[in-house]
Amino acid sequence: MRRKLVAGNWKMNGSLAANTALVAGIKDGLPAQACDVAVCVPAPYLAQVQGAVAGSAVALGAQDISAHASGAYTGEVSAAMLQEFGVQYVIIGHSERRAYHGESDVAVAAKTVAALKAGLVPVVCVGETLEQREAGKTNEVVGGQLDVVLEALAADEAARIVVAYEPVWAIGTGKTATPEMAQEVHAMLRARLAAKSAEAAAKVRILYGGSMKPDNAVQLLAMADIDGGLIGGAALKAADFLAIIQAAA
Ligand code: 13P
Repeated sequence: MRRKLVAGNWKMNGSLAANTALVAGIKDGLPAQACDVAVCVPAPYLAQVQGAVAGSAVALGAQDISAHASGAYTGEVSAAMLQEFGVQYVIIGHSERRAYHGESDVAVAAKTVAALKAGLVPVVCVGETLEQREAGKTNEVVGGQLDVVLEALAADEAARIVVAYEPVWAIGTGKTATPEMAQEVHAMLRARLAAKSAEAAAKVRILYGGSMKPDNAVQLLAMADIDGGLIGGAALKAADFLAIIQAAA
């Protein structure tokens, strides 16, 4: 049985004051029997939120990682730097990074390798655009994105990743994949993991992301292959984030 994971992706939101209030609210309301919980924060706030979540069940996550260990890579943040701030999870290949920063499947794979080498849990994001879905290419696109990452990993490494299925058309739009639509893609992704190793298929958590809210989380999280959520907008309000955590418990 896979333990569910609910991770907040704050994206480029927050401030020192807002972060303090948000983390306090999450910690105050966290149920005793919660699923795994993480907040993935902008890099400048890693130190602040490391302190704020210390001693609680809330894990710290980052939103990107460099594929390189160190050196002349202006603006990038290395795995070792993330480790120094107690980071456990790192989002890799979010559709916003693929779209606005030209991250290719190969770059996403290299970043995943860097994260695993440092003992971080990569949350590898995959997802199709509306155009791709309407052209009947969802499995080809989404499965292909995962396959490139899996090709770069040994079987035991593949078992240590988290995958997030985030249909691009559902992100920040209020349009959610129906539980059945999401389950179909999650099952396909699990089959790709199984082709790599039975252990990976059994262990890897596949999160759904894209307008997951308190009012649709229960139905999505009830599906056999949906092992949690990667939450954008609803992760910025403690009450909404907690309601989704409750739905996963
Ligand atoms: P929303 O929940 O705001 O749609 O964002 C989803 C997402 O992109 C999480 O990474």
